[in-house]
Amino acid sequence: MPAASLPLPLPLPLLGPLAVLLGACIGSFLNVVAWRLPRQESLLWPASHCPRCGTPLAWYDNLPLLGWLLLRGRCRHCQQPIARRYPLVELLTAGLWLAMVLARPEAMGPAPQALLLLLAGWLLASWLVPLVLIDVDQLWLPEPLCRWGLILGLVATALLGFAQGADIGRALLLEHLLAAALGLLGFEAVSALAEKALGKPALGLGDAKLAALIGAWLGLAGLAAAVALAVLLGALVGLVARLLGRLKPGRPFPFGPFLATGALLVWQAGSGPWLRLLLPSLTPTAGV
Ligand SMILES: [Zn+2]
Repeated sequence: MPAASLPLPLPLPLLGPLAVLLGACIGSFLNVVAWRLPRQESLLWPASHCPRCGTPLAWYDNLPLLGWLLLRGRCRHCQQPIARRYPLVELLTAGLWLAMVLARPEAMGPAPQALLLLLAGWLLASWLVPLVLIDVDQLWLPEPLCRWGLILGLVATALLGFAQGADIGRALLLEHLLAAALGLLGFEAVSALAEKALGKPALGLGDAKLAALIGAWLGLAGLAAAVALAVLLGALVGLVARLLGRLKPGRPFPFGPFLATGALLVWQAGSGPWLRLLLPSLTPTAGV
């Protein structure tokens, strides 16, 4: 991988803790996005409040992770429990931001600028977290989030690509545009075929829009690897959930979280390692 020798914008002992701290704060905001966006509430006003009694939270209650721990998971006023999901999302986002520090995607050309690449990775991870949460809550991927995520992917591709020369920029942008279109049309085609075969909707159309977003960020090989990972992870989790009795037959479950996980794994390590890992496992070998 040519990108393996990329320098970091800051020394790791500085950048790591900074990424965790910033990621936890952004995660706190992403909780708000995932709650308010489907309810069409403003993201910035009013300030965070207890969902049960409506009391506004003090700034120190709002500190990511710490606030929840200091309150021991209960509202200061009404003593009702605060969902564990809030600190978990903050922790997850902090972890993703830390992981992005060491991400070496192939999707952005042979020698992407290190700081731009890091900012792009942070943006991608932060964009996918609320999409996943909303899909888990409502089996629905909001169209504007998918559309703007796609546009941001193309902008990131153009910025990172043209910084490496006009030829690289043009080639990357064209490939990522093509991948976005293929992601959308491919998923819509599979969804239409599956609906014909099963007589009921099998894939949400939101998944097609999310695939288009992923294509815009990861290009053709990246999209292929992310979708392959998503199918494998989805099948594994679906099977385990069925065996444990957590998923009833025929009940829909969201595919967005698996697509997003696949996309982040590919951004992290490039598409090559995943495709090499997955292709043997997807082709049945004789004698097994
Ligand atoms: Zn309360």
